[in-house]
Amino acid sequence: MRVWRAHTSMGPLSLTPYPLPKAAAATYCCCFHYGFPIKSNNRRKVPCAISIRCCASASASKFNNKNKTCQAEPGIDNFVVVNFYRFVFIKDPQHEIAKHLTFLKGLDIHGRIYINEQGINAQYSGPFRDAFAYVEWLKEDEKFSDVLVQTSPALNGHAFPKLKLRYKPSLVQLEGGISHLPLLDPSMQAKAIAPSEWRKRLEAVNDKSYILLDVRNGYEWDIGHFHGAQRPDVDCFRSTSFGLSPTEGVASDQLSQVDKEKTDILMYCTGGIRCDVYSTILRQQGFQNLYTLEGGVSHYLKTEGPVKWVGNLFTFDSRLSLPPSAYNHEGIIKASTTQHAFDSDRFGKCYVCGSQVSELRHRNCANPDCNFLFLCCANCVMDLRGCCCYNCTTAPRCRPVLPGFQRYKKWHVYRDLPVQAQAQ
Ligand SMILES: [Zn+2]
Ligand SMILES: [Zn+2]
Repeated sequence: MRVWRAHTSMGPLSLTPYPLPKAAAATYCCCFHYGFPIKSNNRRKVPCAISIRCCASASASKFNNKNKTCQAEPGIDNFVVVNFYRFVFIKDPQHEIAKHLTFLKGLDIHGRIYINEQGINAQYSGPFRDAFAYVEWLKEDEKFSDVLVQTSPALNGHAFPKLKLRYKPSLVQLEGGISHLPLLDPSMQAKAIAPSEWRKRLEAVNDKSYILLDVRNGYEWDIGHFHGAQRPDVDCFRSTSFGLSPTEGVASDQLSQVDKEKTDILMYCTGGIRCDVYSTILRQQGFQNLYTLEGGVSHYLKTEGPVKWVGNLFTFDSRLSLPPSAYNHEGIIKASTTQHAFDSDRFGKCYVCGSQVSELRHRNCANPDCNFLFLCCANCVMDLRGCCCYNCTTAPRCRPVLPGFQRYKKWHVYRDLPVQAQAQ
């Protein structure tokens, strides 16, 4: 039986390794084998793209004011996904956590909110009213008053199974931890470029004096990336090693032959946190001209639309990916008159047959001992019964094919099923 290397993670925000079943420990990385079943909530409607544009820039107090109307205003019961982080010194993290837990009591918030001495990292889902009540409360603390809060539509109720709000030694999982990194020292950070400036730089025809560095995982690049960014040879952010190669000319390391003092490095990730962390490592390695995309791709898609971007944006929750239109309705309308929209629709390729159809989505291989996270078209899902390849279809245990956006449940649910009962 073919064994795939470990390659999945829950990305920048929650990389806690789960206890793994012994038989599969060697082939699993982090969390994707615990597929999150999407909970449906019939009473709530999915907010449209316009309403998300609106809610992303509005405060909760505005929406709590029923006299104020906004044409594209979302219902306060509509579910949204919220992301934010802030590196800031927190003297007493346990006290901070207790405060947050007290405030969130009674609010319908699911997600991962981690706090330590270096700051906070949060991604959660909830009805609009609750999601933004928390943001408003947080911003009353001057440490967090100007935190960049990003929202996107939840597809069907919560995008996370439950709330985890706790102390975590590393806000981002990286080999060796990040507590020793100078994350709070401005001189060690990259220069943040606003999305509009970033766009100008990418659009400048004669400016090829930079390296565009995708600081994410390869499977995220597969579903969408900036034009000109090379696919990162990275399966899990914790093992990212750009610029760390001991010898020059390592093909997988895009920075191995770069002039550290002269070349501009333009780094981007989903929401900015991975770049903020990794840029301090590159600074320590002597890279002088480091730039990051402020607020990451999600912020860029909201303000600039999918200009110079192809495909969708991978998300580390039950949605798995979102089209650019989820972030910016106007942007996608503008882009529809250009080639960008077409490129976006036809960008991803089925890992199995290579076809470029619009109905592609990430899914985990039905063979639980493989669990490869792969992009697959609907035809190949049927042909291979949810497996990533023909070899996996002959595996002793195979999970059933799940329809739509459903994700596999926890490992033990399938481990305990008799083999025959699992055959399709
Ligand atoms: Zn296919
Ligand atoms: Zn497989």
